[in-house]
Amino acid sequence: MKKVVVLGGGGFIGGHLAKRLKDDGNQVTVCDIKDHEYWDSNTICDKFIVGDLRDPSIVSSVISTDTDEVYQLAADMGGAGYLFTGDNDANVMHNSSLINLNVIHECTKKLVKKVFYSSSACVYPEHNQLDPNNPNCEESSVYPASPDSEYGWEKLYSERLFLAFNKNYGIDVRIGRFHNIFGPMGTWSGGKEKVPAAICRKTAEASNSVEVWGDGLQTRSFLYIDECVEAVIKLMESDFMGPVNIGSQEMVSINELAQMVIDISGKDISIQNIQGQTFVDKYGFNCPEGVRGRNSDNRLYKEKIGWAVSQPLRIGLEQTYRWINQEVNSPRH
Ligand code: NAD
Repeated sequence: MKKVVVLGGGGFIGGHLAKRLKDDGNQVTVCDIKDHEYWDSNTICDKFIVGDLRDPSIVSSVISTDTDEVYQLAADMGGAGYLFTGDNDANVMHNSSLINLNVIHECTKKLVKKVFYSSSACVYPEHNQLDPNNPNCEESSVYPASPDSEYGWEKLYSERLFLAFNKNYGIDVRIGRFHNIFGPMGTWSGGKEKVPAAICRKTAEASNSVEVWGDGLQTRSFLYIDECVEAVIKLMESDFMGPVNIGSQEMVSINELAQMVIDISGKDISIQNIQGQTFVDKYGFNCPEGVRGRNSDNRLYKEKIGWAVSQPLRIGLEQTYRWINQEVNSPRH
């Protein structure tokens, strides 16, 4: 049994990760600025601290000298509608940087044995993601750096921050670059939801058509949450520091993703592609499309960890659609 701390455990990935670590028999403390939206805290951890990790005194109270491992997932975060309009850039950079500065400093001071940092596919240069059929997200392609969002720049800065603390103070770090993680118990409305959840919600609500931002030919890959959690745990157990991709290599266009969800729903509805960039959709959100193509490159993870994700996208989407459909149609909403 290890004493572990999951920062951002009130959120989507952190909640699932904390629950898995607790189910595995570890003693889990979670800190987040808010309670988990869907899970009772006893389900995912032994102790849930509501606190703002931008405040060093909170970070100091959460991480102790007997903490074995820290998983740092807290970030000012959202989907394309939140991160790529530019409207939240200052907050995203300021809030997430402060959290990361506090966390790695405190972990080093308290001699935490190992720290996981959740980076993102958004660190990769825009110029390698212009061709939707052939994007390059190999780990080594990240430099010379040119992410397409301030969110990506902050992630890249914080990767370097964690690596610098490793280099100068010897703290053991692991860095995973997540590529579009999805699944139940995550944000599905309100503007911070990501594309699989948004499309599941729109499909659950639709009687005629489902709006997809842009021409729908932009490509992405999506990793189901259980496989993401497994990949994080295996990375932590390995000797490899990263940064390494944690994603799926099953690349689909956004229209293909939407069609898969529509098929799962069994509804007789169509896809309506709406103009991206400056267009405002019927929910009042800007419609940024992001890069044209993005896919995870899992060769390095496979080589270093000796394991690979394998679940087809459709299976995870079935579980996610079932959950969101229930949320959309349940009385509490
Ligand atoms: P999420 O928004 O559900 O979780 C982040 C959590 O951080 C939230 O619960 C939020 O309340 C918390 N948080 C924000 N500011 C805080 C503060 N000042 N103090 C304490 N807690 C604070 O997002 P997620 O999808 O679970 O992502 C987890 C991590 O993985 C993030 O760092 C994110 O950038 C990274 N990531 C996620 C994806 C993805 O597809 N979901 C992709 C790439 C990277």
